[in-house]
Amino acid sequence: MDSKDLNAETYSLDFLPRLVGSFASPASENPTVAIMEAAFRHHRLHYRYINCEVGHDKLKAAVEGAKAMGWRGFNCSIPNKVEVVKYIDELGESARIIGAVNTVIIEENGTTRGENTDGKGFVKAISDVISVQGKRMVLLGAGGAARAIGVEMALAGVSEIVVLNRDESGHALVDLLNKCTPAKATFVLWNQTFDIPANTDIVINATPVGLYPNVEQRLNINVETLKPDMLVADCIPNPVYTLFVKDAIGKGCKHVLPGMNMLVNQAVIAVKYWTGEDVDAEVMKNELKRVLGL
Ligand code: NDP
Repeated sequence: MDSKDLNAETYSLDFLPRLVGSFASPASENPTVAIMEAAFRHHRLHYRYINCEVGHDKLKAAVEGAKAMGWRGFNCSIPNKVEVVKYIDELGESARIIGAVNTVIIEENGTTRGENTDGKGFVKAISDVISVQGKRMVLLGAGGAARAIGVEMALAGVSEIVVLNRDESGHALVDLLNKCTPAKATFVLWNQTFDIPANTDIVINATPVGLYPNVEQRLNINVETLKPDMLVADCIPNPVYTLFVKDAIGKGCKHVLPGMNMLVNQAVIAVKYWTGEDVDAEVMKNELKRVLGL
């Protein structure tokens, strides 16, 4: 089908697509717009995704603007995931526990609901490879991504979670996990090189260590303690192959998941909330690889 036919079929005399998008700052290096639009084209969904540079100062106005323009919803990323909670009407269960929202759904009557698909996308990426039931996990970092991942992995059945953070603020996540989920969480103050305990099943980097442009940064862990039967996952979507991911591959870890998987899966879940459609994750993954030049 050529592009003329595709346009004819997509619009079929309806020139008013449903709008969704993203409110974040910085916004320009976020590839989500590319993978969303690829899914919309592939599935002939009459939607467009608008990537917007919006920080805290304009967030309230942006939410009101989206409602006024009849948007179906929007994503929030840095620095808006917690801030946006002030401006929406309801929270889904895990978004309420996590205290952060990355996907907002706007109903026809203007009511807004916040969900958090970061952790759900992560659980999906891991569950595609292994069962998480009863697994022991090491979680590096205790920020927004770590909260989403920790809560969702615990709700999905991980039994023990060791949380590492450079300062004592990481206790807040441990307390949250112990209070609101069935998992047993413990805290390690991360002020020296960490040896991954030998009985660990899953190791996750939820820090920005190694994120572009700081691609030479290494996590303060003893790489020699990564074992082949551990599943190793990174949150960082860019670059795809962080030094952590490369180290895990080098140590023979059987399952190594780059952050790209999480990014794509959380986007698939967001599209489901907005459109009701299950879009093809492979279409998004291929587009992500294409735009990142892989
Ligand atoms: P936050 O700023 O909320 O949290 C960052 C965490 O990393 C904090 O615990 C912080 O600890 C820790 N940290 C920062 N620098 C270091 C360091 N040099 N050594 C050890 N710990 C460090 O960020 P987010 O949780 O929102 O994001 C974390 C990463 O996850 C980012 O790279 C982001 O791109 C990625 N992400 C990926 C997603 C995806 O879909 N693939 C979705 C969401 C996030 P401290 O308190 O000591 O500063």
